[in-house]
Amino acid sequence: MSTYITDDCINCGACEPECPNAAITEGEEIYVIDANLCAECVGDNEAEACQAVCPVECCLPNPDNPEEESALIAKAMKLRPDDADLAARIASGNFPSRFRT
Ligand code: SF4
Ligand code: SF4
Repeated sequence: MSTYITDDCINCGACEPECPNAAITEGEEIYVIDANLCAECVGDNEAEACQAVCPVECCLPNPDNPEEESALIAKAMKLRPDDADLAARIASGNFPSRFRT
């Protein structure tokens, strides 16, 4: 379903500006990811951008809600229907994805 942030978060804020879908916000105790806005960076990056910058590597795929690459790329396009660059990457069939690295 999405990446989630574990209790190991130290509230550094590094991940928030990296998300292509603005899915990350500062929560009550730790930063949180809105599952409806997270496409696991499929279509944008070869790995999760949040996890790539996280100093404690606590942005992980939620094991309780696995989602296939096909569902995630559809989610990304639905979230950003006017993103021509994303659409072009999808049309090429060669979009970046954590499932392909
Ligand atoms: Fe945003 Fe990508 Fe992290 Fe999901 S995995 S919250 S889309 S940066
Ligand atoms: Fe928390 Fe990691 Fe995001 Fe920093 S980068 S706010 S430690 S999840």
